[in-house]
Amino acid sequence: MAKRVLVIGGGPAGLSAARTLGRLGIPTLLVEREDRLGGRPVLEDYHTLIPRRMTPSQVLGPYVEEVNNSQTVEVKLGTEVVGCEGSAPNFKVRLSNGEEHEVAAIVVATGFKHFDARRKGELGYGIFPDVITNLELEQMFSREGKLYKPSNGQLPQRVAFVFCVGSRDRQLGVTNVHCCRYGCALSGLQASEIREKYPEVDVFCYYMDVRTYGTWEYPFYWEPQEKFGVRYVRGRIAEITYSPSDGRLRIKHEDTIVKRPAEIPVDLVVLVLGMEPSEGTKKVAQILGLAQDPDSQFLVPAEESGSNVLSSKAGVFIAGACKGPIDIESSLSEGEAAAVEAVSFIGAKVAV
Ligand SMILES: Cc1cc2nc3c(=O)[nH]c(=O)nc-3n(C[C@H](O)[C@H](O)[C@H](O)COP(=O)(O)OP(=O)(O)OC[C@H]3O[C@@H](n4cnc5c(N)ncnc54)[C@H](O)[C@@H]3O)c2cc1C
Repeated sequence: MAKRVLVIGGGPAGLSAARTLGRLGIPTLLVEREDRLGGRPVLEDYHTLIPRRMTPSQVLGPYVEEVNNSQTVEVKLGTEVVGCEGSAPNFKVRLSNGEEHEVAAIVVATGFKHFDARRKGELGYGIFPDVITNLELEQMFSREGKLYKPSNGQLPQRVAFVFCVGSRDRQLGVTNVHCCRYGCALSGLQASEIREKYPEVDVFCYYMDVRTYGTWEYPFYWEPQEKFGVRYVRGRIAEITYSPSDGRLRIKHEDTIVKRPAEIPVDLVVLVLGMEPSEGTKKVAQILGLAQDPDSQFLVPAEESGSNVLSSKAGVFIAGACKGPIDIESSLSEGEAAAVEAVSFIGAKVAV
C-alpha cells in the first residue's frame, strides 16, 4: 500500500496540512493550481490580518519556507487533480500535467472565492469607480500604501463600509444565507486604519448587526468607535447612486434604529464581500464524490463524526474555507488536524 498523502490546495489550510505531514516524515504531494503557495489573495493582496495585525508573509511565510524545504513534501504548482479512481487507501489520482500518482489518503483544502459584487446591482459596483470591495481596499493599502478615490486619485472626505455583501442575504436565494465571519472584524480594522492615518476622513460602517466573535469584540468593534471615532449605523442599503451635481455618491438607506429613510453623500464606498466555495472546491467535490451542502455548495463533514475534518468519504479529509467561511488561524489549525487524521487513517509509522 502506498503511504503517500495528497494535499489539494496550497492556501493556509493546505500549507498547514503539508507542513504537519512533512514534520511527521510522511511522503506528501502538495498540488496547487496557482503558480505560488499561500492562497493568492491571502499572500499577495491582504495588507494587515485580523486578529493579530500581522502581515500575510509574517503569518504564512514560515509555512511556505518549511514546506518548500521539506525532505518529504513534493510541491507541484500550476497543477490540479483532474481525475481519481479507486478508494482509500489505494487512490489513483490523475493530474492536469498528465501524471498519475497512487496515494493512500487525501486532504482537500481548496478554499473559497470572493462574492462577485456585481450581482448586487443596486450597490453600483462595476458602474461607479468609487465603489470598491474590501479586497481592493486591502490591495490599495498593500500595493500603494495610501487611500484614494479611484476616479481621480484624491483622498475621500467620507468613506462608507457596507457590511454583508453576498452574506446573510436571502434576496440572493438560498446560496448566500451564511455569515462570512471575518467581515465585521476586518472592517473594524480597516476603518480604524483609515482614521488613524487620515483623521480628517469620516468613516461610517453600515451594518445589519455586528458579529465580532469572541475576543474580537473589543479590538474590532469598540475600539474603532471609542478610540478612532468610526461611526456605526444600523441600516439597510436600498441603493447607491451618483450625483453629477457634486460628483459624490449617495447612500440611500433605512436607518433601522430610528426607523427612517436617509441619504448621505460619500466619496468612497467599500463593499464587504462574502465568501463562496471556490470553483476548485466544487470541481474536487465532483471528482472525489464528496458531500456538499445543497444550498451553499460548501463541503460538509461526515454526518456521524464529531470531527469537522472528516469528509463523507473514507480516507478524504477536509480543512479550511472549502467547508465554509473561516479565518486564517482556524484554517491553519484545521490543516494540522486533517493531516493528523490522515496519518492516523493510513496507520503510518511517523518519523518523530
Ligand atoms: C477580503 C477578505 C479578507 C480576509 N482577511 C482575513 C484576515 O485578515 N484574517 C483572517 O484570519 N482571515 C481573513 N480572511 C479569510 C481568509 O482568506 C481565509 O480564512 C483563508 O484564505 C482560508 O484558507 P484556505 O486555505 O482554506 O483557502 P484559500 O485561501 O482559498 O486557499 C485555497 C487554495 O487552494 C487552491 N486551489 C483551489 N482549487 C484547487 C484545485 N482544484 N487544485 C489545486 N489547488 C486548488 C487555491 O488556488 C488556493 O491557493 C479574509 C477573507 C476575505 C474574503
